[in-house]
Amino acid sequence: MADRDGLIWYDGEMVEWRNATTHVLTHSLHYGMGVFEGVRAYETPQGTAIFRLKEHTNRLFESAHIMGMKIPYSQDEINAATIAAVRDNNLASAYIRPLAFYGSEGMGIRADNLRVHVIVAAWHWGAYMGEEALKTGIRIRTSSFTRHHVNITMTRAKSSGAYVNSMLALQEAVSAGADEALLLDPEGYVAEGSGENIFIVKNGVIYTPEVTACLNGITRNTILTLAGERGIPVVEKRITRDEVYIADEAFFTGTAAEVTPIREVDGRQIGCGSRGPITGQLQSAYFDLVTGKTDAHSEWRTLVK
Ligand code: PMP
Repeated sequence: MADRDGLIWYDGEMVEWRNATTHVLTHSLHYGMGVFEGVRAYETPQGTAIFRLKEHTNRLFESAHIMGMKIPYSQDEINAATIAAVRDNNLASAYIRPLAFYGSEGMGIRADNLRVHVIVAAWHWGAYMGEEALKTGIRIRTSSFTRHHVNITMTRAKSSGAYVNSMLALQEAVSAGADEALLLDPEGYVAEGSGENIFIVKNGVIYTPEVTACLNGITRNTILTLAGERGIPVVEKRITRDEVYIADEAFFTGTAAEVTPIREVDGRQIGCGSRGPITGQLQSAYFDLVTGKTDAHSEWRTLVK
């Protein structure tokens, strides 16, 4: 990732990709206190557009606020940096990674002289789990690792350290032959994937866990809006793993994963064992929206000029 051409926005300046480095005593590298976002830009008929940029930047600032980090830029400045990261790298479509972290000004968890540094990198990244996964769906396994309790690392913040748990869960799932993990909350109810929110469909109704043990996903919010506009009933509630087993359809959502159907959970086929009809309908609607094939919600697409 590091040895390539390009530019990364780093503390207010565009820096050559290879020179966008930081010291080995970077505080966040040691203790995991950092906050980040995953954002995507898509090609649209009007040009490249970043999807829900304002919401992502706002969540970055909320994450920092929860963690007690003060980002030394305004949201407008980070929005402009995100646009610049796509534009200056000449990307027609992109995955964008803003990150705020503590520098190497001090060490130890008591360090009180730390500066918050911010980078925004952008590069081309296709379908997170491959094109085939979007069509036929993935196989997932319930994790032996519990998702964070709201009072441990908290779940509204998209913080770097929280992803230790995600990586443990994903490693376990992949080594058992699955594509992704399903994490349960500390009480045993369904929380989310290692980097995705989960939805199930039963008898024409969509269910998704309340935002307690899962990230308040922006794709999740987009899907709730799209379902509402199509008259598909949605219920946010606690979900048990056996409810997922007997669902007619299930799918994951996320900026990286987009709308990925789930065809198997813990060795049990879900519904028809492929992308279900409601999943397909919402997936098409999602791609039409992000790629500007519809005029709807144009406020969610920020053109990169
Ligand atoms: N849950 C977790 C743990 C995630 O990492 C992500 C990806 N950011 C999501 C859910 C989905 O969030 P979003 O739709 O905002 O990308």
